[in-house]
Amino acid sequence: MKRRFQALHPDEFVPGAAALTPERLSARGIKGVIFDIDNTVVPQDDPADERARQLFRRLHEAGIRTFIVSNNAEPRVKTFAGAVGSEYCFKARKPSAKGFREALRRMGLARDEVIAVGDQLFTDIWGANRAGIRSVLVPPVDPKKDTKGIRIKRFFERIVFRSWKKSEKNS
Ligand SMILES: [Mg+2]
Repeated sequence: MKRRFQALHPDEFVPGAAALTPERLSARGIKGVIFDIDNTVVPQDDPADERARQLFRRLHEAGIRTFIVSNNAEPRVKTFAGAVGSEYCFKARKPSAKGFREALRRMGLARDEVIAVGDQLFTDIWGANRAGIRSVLVPPVDPKKDTKGIRIKRFFERIVFRSWKKSEKNS
């Protein structure tokens, strides 16, 4: 059945990036994780904290590849990626699928071996879906640090999110 807003629906919702433990991912055959940074791993424009470093370290130690696909500018993304030891691409223009495809190519992994995690339906989730990658939505780390433009999008996101919840219930 075709659903309203289907392209914007995540495949999954988890309460936070920390829920993505290597054990859970490996059990599902996941070999790589594509991350958004801002409000997915840390608050908007915040540097990598110990929690973030630990998240990436645990994945890497378990042999799971990571790749950051961010719409933010190079200095921000490069610094963060360096701190957590991840490969990255910046100014990805999500919901374009381009950054996600680049991530697959550079990780050397197939679509079904990877998940993509993000806090925004209109960029992260839509982009991942377009690239045919399993999309995982997290709630924003700190909604107060959303930029004005993002706050407007959140209003529409709530409408789509509710439609997704409803379709989940009926499936
Ligand atoms: Mg974000």
